[in-house]
Amino acid sequence: MDSLQHQSIQDLFDLMDEDGHEQIIFCRHPSSGLKAIIAIHDTTLGPALGGCRMQDYATTEEALQDVLKLSKGMTYKSAIADVDFGGGKMVVIGDPKEKRPELFRAIGRFLAGFKGRFYTGTDMGTDPEDFVHARRESQAFVGLPKCYGGSGDTSLPTAHGVYQGIRATLKYLYGDDSLEGRTFAIQGVGKVGGKLANLLLQEGATCYIADIEANRCLEIQERDPQRVTICNWDEIHKVACDIFAPCAIGGVLNYLTIPELRCRAVVGSANNQLSREEDGFELQRREIWYAPDYLVNAGGLIQAATELEGGTEETVIAKTKSIYEGLLEIYRVSAQENIPTCQAADQLVDRRLNKVADLHRIYSGR
Ligand code: NAD
Repeated sequence: MDSLQHQSIQDLFDLMDEDGHEQIIFCRHPSSGLKAIIAIHDTTLGPALGGCRMQDYATTEEALQDVLKLSKGMTYKSAIADVDFGGGKMVVIGDPKEKRPELFRAIGRFLAGFKGRFYTGTDMGTDPEDFVHARRESQAFVGLPKCYGGSGDTSLPTAHGVYQGIRATLKYLYGDDSLEGRTFAIQGVGKVGGKLANLLLQEGATCYIADIEANRCLEIQERDPQRVTICNWDEIHKVACDIFAPCAIGGVLNYLTIPELRCRAVVGSANNQLSREEDGFELQRREIWYAPDYLVNAGGLIQAATELEGGTEETVIAKTKSIYEGLLEIYRVSAQENIPTCQAADQLVDRRLNKVADLHRIYSGR
């Protein structure tokens, strides 16, 4: 091995040390076209659990950065949702339009080798049907269609969790959590954003919506033309409204977009909405209440964790409803301690992780 290669491998360990990642696994299987990276961030709370995302990443570096960031987010999401799982994520490098059953069986073969250290659910670019193939090789897959014994599409509980977060935010802002007459701007009306729009419209809200796939917006507008307005996807964050709901991509709250926001609060499903931690401070300075994404979008994780633990649909509903009280608590701590909401949520996570790590000091037998 020459010195340049040696240097690169050393950098990989430095990268893991930055956010405390435990393990990175690269998976390759040429005949199925599989190129994937699994990152396990932290298993203090239990085996790693996180989605399997398929995306046409421009470079391996981009995929690696994504999986590292997303797996860390899963540790935080599990801790705040109070489930006994750690944080992990898998990214498959490739165009989701070209996915084939062999690819998912190959993923299954790799995951079988982990013997319960990592479980995965669907994410952007993967569907419950893909996991039917993967499950033939390994038990590490959750969220299969109900007819295959799985708990089905996670976007439903995710949308319900965001809806709970929205109601809690209205309660905090106005002392009343009714949606009647309130105005929302939703960026991305796919699986989660589309369901969220329907929930809000059913209760008398007005919605501005945007999506890079125009037909998704048209379908929603057709159902309620009076109260739905379609906007440009790159301008939706500028709409004057009560709540802006990012439900598409990450990094949408940044130094360019934050000065353009005209909402009282941001509550949406997209992962990693804050481009940098400083953006949380900027939102606080501008008195825009930010609902930490990993708290309000935890509904899907709650469903996956409940499936693995053998709970029922009622368990999922009850835990998802508790996002309402959890978010109010974050807002209170943020106001009392004069810190951004993202910092208040991170503190809560750190306390939970430390408590469980401390419990692990007790030997409980083999
Ligand atoms: P999806 O792919 O079904 O929907 C995303 C939608 O956003 C699509 O309609 C897409 O066309 C649109 N979009 C993409 N880029 C856009 C842009 N720049 N501007 C406007 N629209 C854009 O995905 P989803 O399952 O609805 O997930 C949405 C977000 O929520 C993602 O960030 C995902 O990671 C996060 N999330 C989803 C779940 C879940 O259970 N599905 C759980 C937690 C978090």
